[in-house]
Amino acid sequence: MKLLKFILQSVVLLSAFSLAGCWSPTAMDSSSGSATPRDSSPTPERSSNDKPNNDNKMIDSKNTVDAADGFAANLPAGFTMPTDAVGKKMLKEYGAIFVAKDGVTPPPKVVFNNESEVSAWQSGVSKSTETIDGATIELQSNAMKALKDAIAEANQSGVKIAARGGSDAARRDYSGTVKNWNSRVEPGLKHWVRKGKITQSEANRIKGLSIPEQITEIFKLEEQRIYFSIDFSKSIIYSVAPPGTSQHISMLAFDVQDHANPKVREILEKHGWFQTVFSDLPHFTYLGVTKDKLSGLGLKKVSDGGREFWMPDI
Ligand SMILES: [Zn+2]
Repeated sequence: MKLLKFILQSVVLLSAFSLAGCWSPTAMDSSSGSATPRDSSPTPERSSNDKPNNDNKMIDSKNTVDAADGFAANLPAGFTMPTDAVGKKMLKEYGAIFVAKDGVTPPPKVVFNNESEVSAWQSGVSKSTETIDGATIELQSNAMKALKDAIAEANQSGVKIAARGGSDAARRDYSGTVKNWNSRVEPGLKHWVRKGKITQSEANRIKGLSIPEQITEIFKLEEQRIYFSIDFSKSIIYSVAPPGTSQHISMLAFDVQDHANPKVREILEKHGWFQTVFSDLPHFTYLGVTKDKLSGLGLKKVSDGGREFWMPDI
């Protein structure tokens, strides 16, 4: 009797499980035949790619052809990829400029070695000169055109886009980048000798090095938190560029007086000018695209202090 009861219970239980299976949505769909439009749609793989209301990531990668290929794929033809530590670091930190569009010419490499290399390259690109509020500045032609459009729009909006630092706000030559570099390295060495972090003889040795050797040594000290920015709290690269690496050499960078005004930044962005050097607040870079195209160029947004910096996603 007990055995019969057990067998009966088992049969009931098993029936209940198979019923539950039948009520699953999958089973319902497949049992409804081919009459519904859903069943006549393409295979699941194709339909998920074709669906216009897919998630944003899918839309971004579909609309921006280069998105899947990233930063490296957007570098200009003939670009020399850096292989040394300094070059790699500068590409990561300052490299957004190399994917600039709108017919401008990004430099062919990360570090220019001397004045003649810089002047030969600068003389080969289309550039124009303008005087803005008394400051005579030089930029690549399309970057200048976009800047002038931004200035005109700012004027209409009651804000002002002016050069910061006179003619130094835009194009710089090689010697200008050396001068700026020394303006941080020398006080930095004095400061850290005074603090007892490095010896005077070590400071003298660093001062006597060639520029490439000196850059390497300064970066090594910064790895030990011996920083060379203006207040010695962060890397020198957020204050000045190592010689030959400044975005200003490319004539696609412009330092802005009233950079703290969000309206000024908004207008500049609208005209293709973005912040691309982390923590360098007055500094803007001409990328020549609208904001929605930046991630497609292999750039990532880094937010800090209410600002957005667009940097290589490498
Ligand atoms: Zn700058």
